[in-house]
Amino acid sequence: MAKKDYYEVLGVQKNAGEEDLKRAYRKLAKQYHPDENAGNAEAEAKFKEVGEAYAILSDKDKRAAYNQYGHQAFDGSMGGQGFGPMNFDFNDIFSSVFGDFFGMGGMGGGRRPQGPMQGPDVQVSIQITFEEAVFGTEKELSLAIADTCGTCGGTGAKPGTYPESCKHCGGTGQERVLQQTIMGRITTVRPCSVCRGEGKIIRDPCPTCGGRGKVKANKKLQVTIPKGIDNGQSIRLAGKGEPGERGGPNGDLRIAVFFKPHSKFRRDGMTLRAEMNISVTQAALGGALTIPTLYGDEQYQLKAGTQPETIITLKGKGVPNVRNPKSVGDFEVKLKVQIPTQLTARQTELLKELAQASGENIQPTPQETKKPWYSGGKKKK
Ligand SMILES: [Zn+2]
Ligand SMILES: [Zn+2]
Repeated sequence: MAKKDYYEVLGVQKNAGEEDLKRAYRKLAKQYHPDENAGNAEAEAKFKEVGEAYAILSDKDKRAAYNQYGHQAFDGSMGGQGFGPMNFDFNDIFSSVFGDFFGMGGMGGGRRPQGPMQGPDVQVSIQITFEEAVFGTEKELSLAIADTCGTCGGTGAKPGTYPESCKHCGGTGQERVLQQTIMGRITTVRPCSVCRGEGKIIRDPCPTCGGRGKVKANKKLQVTIPKGIDNGQSIRLAGKGEPGERGGPNGDLRIAVFFKPHSKFRRDGMTLRAEMNISVTQAALGGALTIPTLYGDEQYQLKAGTQPETIITLKGKGVPNVRNPKSVGDFEVKLKVQIPTQLTARQTELLKELAQASGENIQPTPQETKKPWYSGGKKKK
């Protein structure tokens, strides 16, 4: 039977580039792969055919020879000039294009060797107040967390019995499977089909945990929330997560801490900020000012002639550093000067006097004779 043209086999043009070849090969090789066409001899032949075509055309020298001499270049009929008979390793060709697509040596994603394994981490979150985050607090958490079963001590076997080592895999939890394929023999490692990768078989499961070795139990836990913790930060309690497998250590417990904003104080890392109203006369004359802080009231001596938006910094009245609580941030108070809107007759009189003493003109603006532009015309309907 005459050999088909390699370009026809792959269904590409004579001038097809590297990517075109690869794309064409990928599509066809998948289509005719023995795994997809068990026992189909025609597909097997096709798979070989596209593999061979790709092997030749993806090699620059071989492709040039093929373009010049056709199949003769490879059938040995040209003596020393040709390439001679070729042996193709379709496995190599296939995996060079697909990578480890079919997972040679690891089909089915085998498990890691059955050693001790750390238990899973447990993540919870708690809500605290703004003040608790600044000053730290103690909280009692109630968590439904898996714990080693008290009945069987974590073995999963009924008391008085023991798990048996799996004879099928010799306790390794893995089995090797030798597969004969068109691409050669492939050894794959997969979890043992008898013990499901555990390496052990429990004949009589523990009645409490059903053989899992763990039970979910409500646990009460005392947690210290450190001073200065910020929104969304987590506390990690090593070893307070779920129990490990096969003697592995417990996982960790992570507690994410959240708090709502405060109505008066804003927090920016270690700095607390707030605004405070003072009167015009306080600003002008100065005097004793009581500033409410998160730590209680502070007495402050306001300077005469304090300007609006002045920021007073109270050292050490902010947020402690969560890692070093001796270092405490500052509290910054921005002063808002309030202009009075409602005055008694007496207050008005005094303010007028003040104005006169300052040489200010506080007479009302003379009445305008023209009407303002916006009330001049009549509205059209
Ligand atoms: Zn148990
Ligand atoms: Zn086994």
